[in-house]
Amino acid sequence: MSRTESAFHPSPAPQIAALNPYVPGKPISELERELGIRESVKLASNENPLGPGDKARAAYAQAAMDLGRYPDGGGFALRQAIARHHGVDAGMVTIGNGSNDVLDMVARTFLHPGRESVFSQHAFAVYPIAIQAVGATPRIAPARDYGHDLDAMAALINDKTDVVWIANPNNPTGTWLTAAPLKDFIASLPKTCICVLDEAYIEYVSDPDFPNGVDWLADFPNLIITRTFSKIHGLAALRVGYSLSHPQAAELMNRVRHPFNVNAPAQAAAIAALDDAPHIARSAELNRAGLAQLSAGLQALGLAVIPSLGNFVTVDLGRPVGPVDQALLREGVICRPVANYGLPNHLRISIGLEAENARCLAALEKVLAA
Ligand SMILES: *Cc1c(COP(=O)(O)O)cnc(C)c1O
Repeated sequence: MSRTESAFHPSPAPQIAALNPYVPGKPISELERELGIRESVKLASNENPLGPGDKARAAYAQAAMDLGRYPDGGGFALRQAIARHHGVDAGMVTIGNGSNDVLDMVARTFLHPGRESVFSQHAFAVYPIAIQAVGATPRIAPARDYGHDLDAMAALINDKTDVVWIANPNNPTGTWLTAAPLKDFIASLPKTCICVLDEAYIEYVSDPDFPNGVDWLADFPNLIITRTFSKIHGLAALRVGYSLSHPQAAELMNRVRHPFNVNAPAQAAAIAALDDAPHIARSAELNRAGLAQLSAGLQALGLAVIPSLGNFVTVDLGRPVGPVDQALLREGVICRPVANYGLPNHLRISIGLEAENARCLAALEKVLAA
């Protein structure tokens, strides 16, 4: 009898028993082995197809020469660099093992059983997990045109609401909120309610009028901005993210932060990536061209795409996504079905290199015609 076959008697905390786990995509190597394909194209996880810039690669390689010592547990240099980059005090910066870690810290710091937390339908899947893991109650506002409906969200806010979550632009829909309504919404929140503004994709947005939450930190002590090194900076493998907030929110979150949550080579690479403006510009330009290429190609196939400001586009296939996704996999094209986000007919395609986007479009054309 194998160890896993014996009965397991301990019971989890009730909120854990009720939790639907996040389901990551399969590793490419595993998929290729299963399907007998090679050289697949992975457009599934909103990564930068260029990866990191040379400066970040070099800083990582250098730091990898010294793995015997613990990292700087307080992330002093990284927090300084982030603070300088945004023109804020280092005491406003909280670093995380990916911004996912920071989102979790927000929930552990500001939520508890009996309290409520509001987010939108089709919003990022990590919010409900973070909320439920601490035993708080998720309240989900219906979306409008796939995006956040701020009136519907406001209608769910009451004296039990401790945290509201907004991704701008949102994943997996690519939808966005403009400055005035978003700022009015944050201003309308009870002062006791934290507003998380998740700006994982903001570096891809070129519109100068697009709201940058950092500009509002002085106005709203209850605002927490989250950013990541996983998207435009191309460091998804290293897991680095951070928040900018009122120093007191940062101090409270640091109480639950695991010491050494960001490893040393990751800190070094992130510092180098932050101010690598040419690589950021190159990545944004590649994304702009690829988003146009994919959107036009999908529309040419007669499909409706949700307008996106992210590094991905989500398309309505007009039929259940499962069989299309399976057929695409057999063509060596890995995208992300978003049925688990309440979008059973939609496929999210991350923007890749020009040739990867072309291969995805060709495979989709073939699969839909079959
Ligand atoms: C990808 C993404 C993140 C970043 O996650 P990391 O843990 O930093 O890799 C955060 N929020 C949203 C909405 C995302 O899509």
